[in-house]
Amino acid sequence: IPTIGVLALQGDVREHLAALTAAGARAVPVRRPAELAEVDGLVIPGGESTTMSKLAVIFGMLEPLRERVAAGLPAYGSCAGMIMLADKILDGRDDQETIGGIDMIVRRNAFGRQNESFEAAVEITGIGGGPVEGVFIRAPWVESTGERTEVLARLDDGTVVAVRSGNLLATSFHPELTGDHRVHELFVDMVRTAG
Ligand code: GLN
Repeated sequence: IPTIGVLALQGDVREHLAALTAAGARAVPVRRPAELAEVDGLVIPGGESTTMSKLAVIFGMLEPLRERVAAGLPAYGSCAGMIMLADKILDGRDDQETIGGIDMIVRRNAFGRQNESFEAAVEITGIGGGPVEGVFIRAPWVESTGERTEVLARLDDGTVVAVRSGNLLATSFHPELTGDHRVHELFVDMVRTAG
């Protein structure tokens, strides 16, 4: 049974720990480089990516995260976590850092004011059993993707909201806030296959 960390600097850590446990992993919070070194995979939660970026620098985690992800550590980012896994972001703060790893451009707070939060049924490539309930909270979208990045889900208007690139997975929405663990099960499978 794989050990999967949840980056616990900021954000909805508890919800991801619970979803990972339900999906069959041993789930542990990760705050320190020594804890990062112990995990087989990592979830980067939803929250506020500017704060997460700042805390990653303060806690000395940014470079260790970049190194492990670049070395092939499976990682899954939801919402703010998607922003953290993007090679490039739009509408970020000037000093905002990302871990990177997925060749894509992600726009923060992309859905705008009147649609800041909404729910939508999302059909995801590789996940059977019908669409998942996508909870979007001041969510980013994927503005463009590089050649190695596979689009897994779009909204009805074509907006890209889930991608995969090798061992890296990202969603604009928050499956950890629903009772549906299929996205976490997909990630646990990715970790098993990688290990
Ligand atoms: N708007 C947040 C950000 O830019 C993301 C929101 C979320 O994770 N629910 O980081």
